[in-house]
Amino acid sequence: MASEIKREAADEAARLASEHGVRPRLVTVLVGDDPASAVYVRNKVRTCEELGLASEHHPLPADTTPARLLEMVAEFNRREDVDGLLVQLPLPQHMDEAAVIEAIDPAKDVDGFHPVNVGRMMQRHPALLPCTPAGVVELLVREGVIIAGARVCVVGRSNIVGRPVAELLLQRDATVTVCHSRTRDLPAVTREADILVVAIGRPGFVRGEHVRPGATVVDVGMNRVTDEGEVAELFGEDAPRRLKALGERGYTLVGDVHPAEVERVAGRLTPVPGGVGLLTVAMLMKNTVEAARRRRGL
Ligand code: NAP
Repeated sequence: MASEIKREAADEAARLASEHGVRPRLVTVLVGDDPASAVYVRNKVRTCEELGLASEHHPLPADTTPARLLEMVAEFNRREDVDGLLVQLPLPQHMDEAAVIEAIDPAKDVDGFHPVNVGRMMQRHPALLPCTPAGVVELLVREGVIIAGARVCVVGRSNIVGRPVAELLLQRDATVTVCHSRTRDLPAVTREADILVVAIGRPGFVRGEHVRPGATVVDVGMNRVTDEGEVAELFGEDAPRRLKALGERGYTLVGDVHPAEVERVAGRLTPVPGGVGLLTVAMLMKNTVEAARRRRGL
């Protein structure tokens, strides 16, 4: 599905180039040297290249001043040839993330985090949608999962995943429950769900007991596991392959769902890696092309 979405973005980019002489351009900014963020940004830049989109990457040292970062954002806002501007989060402690997000031109906010885009989304007006939540919806729609009328449970209420995914599924007529760290008897609530979306940042937290038999489970989590015992416990039959990855790279990725247990109960379960993460990048490409189109009224 991610390949399909990327192909559609590439086709639309090619059309913009041939009919209007426009090549959508994404600018990424990474402050500091967080290794996971560096991998995410590299993927984004590489995907632009694969699809024929223009891209620029601007790495900045961890001690960059907030004023310098805001100056750069202003410069990219001004540049006519820049369609999408993404400042990779999280930012170092001394930066005010909200101020940086708000400084980005909403028309170029391909992450969909600017309050203008969030507000427009909440009011069901056209907006640049946040990539991971929009990717989750796209996945369910393309997979033919019935959303209207379904009981959906979203575990996690962050601004970047839980809240927007709950809102987008509500807009598609699901009956949505949002859970968080203060939810009482979580398994009893999640077991009601036909569609369970999990975004909490805790490796393998959601177990068989949380899942209704046959439910569709979307695992948004992305966590690094470095302990051999944990790998053996989490992955069941897949453990030998994961232990090999651990030996080679020093870690393997696991979602917020316990794969070996939930696989046995769920009707469908998205893999980690190779699931929602791929869709997120694909949706970013779609947003960049969309921003290029909208900014020029094409
Ligand atoms: P976050 O900002 O840390 O929010 C975590 C949420 O989970 C909070 O709402 C928290 O509740 C809730 N939570 C924590 N422990 C819980 C528990 N024991 N029971 C129920 N709820 C609990 O996380 P995030 O940024 O949304 O990210 C979540 C996960 O998704 C992470 O693993 C992240 O790496 C991954 N992610 C993946 C992608 C992708 O492209 N695939 C993109 C973004 C994020 P409170 O509000 O009560 O504290």
